[in-house]
Amino acid sequence: MRINVARLRHIEGSSQDFSFSEVFPSLEIGGEEYVFEEPVNVNLNVINTGKSLLVRGNISSVLKVNCSRCLKEMAYKLNLKFDDEWIPSEYAKQGDEDNALIFDNDEFSIDSRIIEHILVSLPMRFVCSEECKGLCPVCGVDKNENNCTCSDEVIDPRLEILSKWNKGV
Ligand SMILES: [Zn+2]
Ligand SMILES: [Zn+2]
Repeated sequence: MRINVARLRHIEGSSQDFSFSEVFPSLEIGGEEYVFEEPVNVNLNVINTGKSLLVRGNISSVLKVNCSRCLKEMAYKLNLKFDDEWIPSEYAKQGDEDNALIFDNDEFSIDSRIIEHILVSLPMRFVCSEECKGLCPVCGVDKNENNCTCSDEVIDPRLEILSKWNKGV
């Protein structure tokens, strides 16, 4: 996604809307690959405040991920809003690059910034449904589909010692 701010950049107070729809390569997170099932849609409203461009945006797409409980593949709908600041390099101060996009030319790519916003928005774990019962830790059966006779009780070894002690063993 390349954006051109030539018109916007030189008129303080001006604003412009942009919208993009682009196929993104898959994301690599912690050794796992997340594939975008749909193009990434980005809508932006950008305002020139004089020293920088203030951005309000929203991103939507669908990621193919796995449920952390039952491990089944699932579609995760991305739909997030974000605020951002894009600063021309001549106004950028040291450290600005940590929370803003610094640009040199009238035209620049916003891909890595968009990916950062996506990464920050993702949950630690994906769950196919709040009711997902997951896999049995003993036999591995998908408890949404089958019942097993394994005991649900997983005894904490520290508690086991305590219960023996209580019984005077
Ligand atoms: Zn699940
Ligand atoms: Zn089981």
